[in-house]
Formats: sequence, structure tokens, C-alpha cells
Amino acid sequence: MTKRLAFVLFAAAFAACNNTETQKEQTIEKAVDKHTQSNADVVDVKHLSLDVKVDFDAKQIAGSATWSIENPKHADTLKLDTYDLTIDSVKVDGSLVQHSKGEFKKYLGTVLNIPIEDNSEKVTVYYKTGEGATALQWMEPQQTLSKKHPFLYTQSEAIYARSWIPSPDGPGIRFSYDARVQVPNDLIALMSATNPQQKNDSGIYRFEMEIPVPAYLMALGVGDVEFRAIDERTGVYADPALIDKAHNEFAEVGQMVHTAEELYGAYRWGRYDILVLPSGFPLGGMENPRLTFATPTIISGDRSLVNLIAHELAHSWSGNLVTNHTWNDFWLNEGFTVYFERRLTEKMTDKSYADMLWELGYQDLEYTVNEMQEEDNMKDSHLKIDLAGREPDEGLTDIAYEKGALFLKLIENTVGREKMDKFLNSYFDEHAFQTITTEEFIAYLQEHLIKGDEALAQKINIDAWVYGPGIPENATRADMERFEKVNAEREKFLSGTAPAELNTKGWTTHEWLHFLRKMPKPLDDTKMTALDKEYDFTHSNNSEIADLWYIMAVATKYKPAYASMEGFLVKVGRRKFLTPLYSEMMETGQTETAKSIYEKARSNYHPLAQGTLDALILNKQ
Ligand SMILES: [Zn+2]
Repeated sequence: MTKRLAFVLFAAAFAACNNTETQKEQTIEKAVDKHTQSNADVVDVKHLSLDVKVDFDAKQIAGSATWSIENPKHADTLKLDTYDLTIDSVKVDGSLVQHSKGEFKKYLGTVLNIPIEDNSEKVTVYYKTGEGATALQWMEPQQTLSKKHPFLYTQSEAIYARSWIPSPDGPGIRFSYDARVQVPNDLIALMSATNPQQKNDSGIYRFEMEIPVPAYLMALGVGDVEFRAIDERTGVYADPALIDKAHNEFAEVGQMVHTAEELYGAYRWGRYDILVLPSGFPLGGMENPRLTFATPTIISGDRSLVNLIAHELAHSWSGNLVTNHTWNDFWLNEGFTVYFERRLTEKMTDKSYADMLWELGYQDLEYTVNEMQEEDNMKDSHLKIDLAGREPDEGLTDIAYEKGALFLKLIENTVGREKMDKFLNSYFDEHAFQTITTEEFIAYLQEHLIKGDEALAQKINIDAWVYGPGIPENATRADMERFEKVNAEREKFLSGTAPAELNTKGWTTHEWLHFLRKMPKPLDDTKMTALDKEYDFTHSNNSEIADLWYIMAVATKYKPAYASMEGFLVKVGRRKFLTPLYSEMMETGQTETAKSIYEKARSNYHPLAQGTLDALILNKQ
């Protein structure tokens, strides 16, 4: 998943857990995932057969989920996670049984208890999704680009799969699946599985995912999209009005998969396709196996934002292949992926380009750490965090992504690239299709790379990174060559040089981002006007640049940008853009502007983004 800025969503709901143990001692009970109420650690859950119908009028998914199980430990109950699901009935090996439900728990939902025998094999749950399904976004035709057909997509990570499938919903539990999905005739259904490339007349689609995956990688997209091949194993699905642009933007993705394989070994999932979602998608991308879900905001026309695809592709190794055992180990998914993404980008472009990404990431990390310091929340700046009793989304900060990646970068710089790559290749290979805890990773690192070398261990200082706050002292900073040139041009501008006189030739998106990020805030109105006149940032088609510019415009109250900003906010649902921009309005006393735009835009946003913004703008929990 792509990162978003740190933003505390929810207050802790549970009574504080027993914190007397130290973090290291907790490793003894490493298998306990506090975000699932299922007992798949006792009952073996092997395979899911999903048979559902997607009803756009009722905004509901209904049907059955059949779990193939084995019960070697003689459990009398199978426990599954559910969230706002209506359970119609449950059968075990074809016979109706009396199921029961636990109390609703905040974030976790309701446990479904199903009586089973030692020799029970198939458990079928007949169910419907509810209005509060956190994974589902139902989009009206006018919220899509072509405006002709509705669209549905899921976002299951971290613990939302349970809101559309009664499931053992923890990253440590893997199962294979097949599915039969019925949709309206004029739409196509796609999943994180083998996918159709064309619509059929029946509206019935069948899927197979023979490789076991955790529930957070269950994904479904339904809409009017077309397929276009990139090469023999990669392709893109998008709205018919966007397919040409999308295909052009992602033309290098075939090559990208080859390059990733050169770095870290075979791509093990068969096809790699991308589904471009409507612009209300709350994330940049989601690494659903075989089918990355991506925001259309990365289609800039110049391929300058495809490093997001590098990120999602990298998850085919870090995350989907080697999976964090619990959400407390989330940095193992995301830190590795950011590191991999930058290595991939470097190999596809050059070092100076990757260095810019590293530096922008460092700036994000510094910002996040400062925020955590202000909130007196430095425990969340450790790589290994404790999310018990909290929404796992709270771990979705630059700590997991950028501090995690920086830790790996430090190891690389300390042992050398060759050793690092050899280490990572074996790491992916030896842990393929398994989960891993932070402590297991550290043990592996000790055994295969540090090998008792005290001096090396001191140089890396694992404890400072994993169990310590903020950015450790030994962090390395990327080469600033290209950004120093940008700094010089910014300085010239700030001391009076007209924008037309600046040397911006050949600048990429990332140079522009650095140029704007380091401007004084607020920048005075005359300077905003001069920049806009020369570069027309107000009408930028590049979502990253546009968002940053609008934040600057709000800080300055530079009104000529407001109409475009409103258009952007009504169209785009990516939280990474929304939260900082609305926050800037709130912090600069422009509450009414924020409220009036949010009122028009809210229905276009995903429930997750609505939750974040309701709290921020409407003060609702
Ligand atoms: Zn990610």
C-alpha cells in the first residue's frame, strides 16, 4: 500500500493492555495477532470458495463463503472475523448448524462462532454485506470518468476483508481461493487472481488463486473497464476513456518486472496487471496479487509518477511473498518495499534520480517524527510498534515506510551493495509464502549478515532503529547533487530573480516538488503570482505538484488557485492529498472554505477517507 501522511484517526478504544513486559519479551508470544478474533491458529483454514452476487442497487454483496478446513487439534468451534455482515445461515458439510455471534468490538467487528467436529471439512457461511462495509466503495456513474456505469472496488488492507468476506482476517493466515462472481451484464469483475481480459454476456466471472494469500490481499473490482496488453505477462485495465493514456503511462511496466527479477529473483505470481480505479480511490496503490489497484492521479502524461507502480510491484516480493506476521511488524512489508522500489527506480533510471526520491522520503520522515514529538507519541516512531487496541491504519506512517527503508539503506551502505543484495535474495527465497516477525528478521540478519562481527553490529545498531525513537544518528542521507541545483534556483528566486530567468531546464516532477516544498510558508502573494504566471501551477496536471501548490495557496490565501483547488478536491479521493490540504485550511482559520468544499466532495471519497476527514473537518469521531 502506498503511504499517507501521519494522521491520528481514532482515539484508543480499549483499556490499555498490560505493558509491563518489555517489547523484546513479547516475542515469546509472537503468534498472537491482536487484530483478529479468528482461531485459524488452531483450525487449519486451507481454501475459500466464494460465490457472490454484486448488487449495485442495494449496494450489497451477497452469497456464500465456503471454507475448506482441517481440525487436527479437535477444536469444537471455528471462529471467523466479520464486520457489519448479516449472517443468514451456516452449514457444516451440508447440514445447517446453530452459529452464534460475539459482541461487537470497535475496529475488530464481531466474531462468528461455528460449531465443528474433528472431521468437519467444509463450512459454508451464507451472508450479506452491510452499509458500514469499510472495504467497499460503491461509486455512482457520475463518479467515474466515462460517467456511464457504476463502479465497485474493495480495499481489504489492513483489517477490512472481514467487512465483505467472513474470514480469518490476519496477515499470518494464508489460504488459496476460487470465486464465482455475478455482476450486471455490462460490467466486468476482476480479482486478485487469474482474470478475464474481456467482458462476457452472462455477467458471471470465475477466478482462481491457487497460491495461498492472507485475507488482506483479497480484492474485487467491478466496473466498465477495458484491458490493454503491455507485453506477454503485463497489462492494464482502465475506464475506456482513459485506456490509451493509461497504456502509454505504463508502457515500461513489462520491463520493470524484468528489472525487478534481475534484482531479487523470479516474479512468482504469473501475470502482473494494473487496474486503474476511479479517482475516489483513497490510496496511491494497493498491491493486490496479480492485479495492482492504482489511483489515476499517477497518470501525469510524462511517466514521472510510475515509481508508485515500482512500489506496488515490489510488494510482489516484500509483503505478498514474505508477509509481516502481525500489523505490529508492518515495517517489514513497507520499509522493504520502499527500499526495493528505490533500487528498482535506480536501475530503471540512474542514481541521481533515486537520490531525489530518497531525499524527499527523508524530508517526509523528518516531518512525521517532528509531529510525533509534538504529540508526545515517540513510541510510534519505533519500527516495531504496538497497535493492540488501535486501528492498524495508525501504523500507516512514514516510520514503517521511510524509517524502515532508511534502516535497510544503512545496512546496504555498511556492508556494501553486493552483500546486501545476496542477503535480500536469500531472505525472499527462504521466507517465500511465509510470514515473518520483526524478531525473526533480526535473528536472520544476525545469522546471515552480521555473523558475530561486533564492530559491524555497533555500526548498524539494530536496537536504535527497531526499538528506539526518531531517526537514529547513524542514518545516511542521499547525495544532494540535483537538489542543490534546485536550492540555488530557489534562492535566486527568493532574492528577486524573475521566474523566467531561473534555470529549470530538464527538471522532473521531483525537482519541482523540492523547489516548492522548501519555499517559505506562507510565501508572499506577489511571489505566488509571479510563479503561477510563469509555470501555471494552479492548472498543473501533475497531482503531486498541484496538491503541494494548493497547500501553499491556502497558506498564503492566494485566491486565484481556489477554484482549481476545489475542482481537484471534488475529483480526487487520495488521502495523501486530501489530509494535508484540508488540514492547512483548518489550521489557517479557513474552516468555512474547508466545510463548503468537503460538503460537495464527501460523497466521492472512500469510507476510510470520510472517516479521517469527518474527524478533521466536522469534528466527528
Ligand atoms: Zn506499500
